[in-house]
Amino acid sequence: MTDLTSASAGRDDNLDVSLRPSGFSDFVGQAAARANLEVFIQAARQRGSALDHVLFVGPPGLGKTTLAQIIAKELGVGFRATSGPVIAKAGDLAALLTNLEERDVLFIDEIHRLNPAIEEVLYPAMEDFQLDLIIGEGPAARSVRIDLAKFTLVGATTRAGLLTTPLRDRFGIPVRLNFYTPEELVQIVTRGARLLGMPMAPDGAMEIARRSRGTPRIAGRLLRRVIDFAMVDGASEVNRAVADKALIRLDVDARGLDQLDRRYLTTIADFYNGGPVGIETIAAALSEPRDAIEEIVEPYLLQQGFIQRTPRGRMLTAIAFQHMGKSVPQGFVG
Ligand code: ADP
Repeated sequence: MTDLTSASAGRDDNLDVSLRPSGFSDFVGQAAARANLEVFIQAARQRGSALDHVLFVGPPGLGKTTLAQIIAKELGVGFRATSGPVIAKAGDLAALLTNLEERDVLFIDEIHRLNPAIEEVLYPAMEDFQLDLIIGEGPAARSVRIDLAKFTLVGATTRAGLLTTPLRDRFGIPVRLNFYTPEELVQIVTRGARLLGMPMAPDGAMEIARRSRGTPRIAGRLLRRVIDFAMVDGASEVNRAVADKALIRLDVDARGLDQLDRRYLTTIADFYNGGPVGIETIAAALSEPRDAIEEIVEPYLLQQGFIQRTPRGRMLTAIAFQHMGKSVPQGFVG
């Protein structure tokens, strides 16, 4: 999978820390979610109690981690971050939980990948702020109960469907994040260019925004690379022509689809006559993990109307054939 347009976090992302909004005032988009969160945060502050647990659901790169950090900052409390696959043993989670102070935020990314045995430890911690630990082994084993500080768990997942019901039910504030509109991404790109010190024309920002797959992380990454091309070409600003030239060289097409998106669409068109075809078959044909296809590739293609999910598998739509300059096969009912 190409690094540049993949929405998953990568090597370059430490660098984009400087582009990460640090408060609600810099955070663009997700207006409804943000407005509700601001109310819940203010109420928690007024009560002097911990914010209820929050679950962010949405494709990678839409701002789940950023919002978790903003929540901690707005609450004026400590922030600790980990991720589901990193917590290998119940003891790892216990160490994290027992180190939290009153009202702190604990962020668990990819919470759907928590090991089930560890999830069990999390339930009483979330509900009663208690930890039940087994100490020792065999006949000498005994259970001890530890009181925890009243903390806020902020979970993030790309796949709400993979979360177990008992875990999902323990989040009082579920928040779904949606893809950003080009206008919102224009604001993000314009702010980013300002922070990076590159003059940005409105049509240049729009060109990058339209081709960022509705995703701020991709917008930030494309912005950096477009600026690189502009600097080396000696351009004094990024306008539409400069952005377009760079984005073509980066292999991002006019709708923002990257190489993998196009391989996905071409495979279904050329080998499966537009579908329906099962996800496993597509994953095997592309030699990409099924998870990556479901979490990263498909959500945007679905949202843009390039594909449909049917009970018999994935199908292309007429828009997809048109986009790839192919004629719709005879008798195709996509
Ligand atoms: P996620 O946790 O959903 O994968 P992140 O919170 O890590 O996404 O966001 C990825 C990058 O996108 C961040 O580094 C940040 O710079 C940028 N970003 C995300 N949301 C916004 C936003 N609403 N406004 C501006 N930049 C954003």
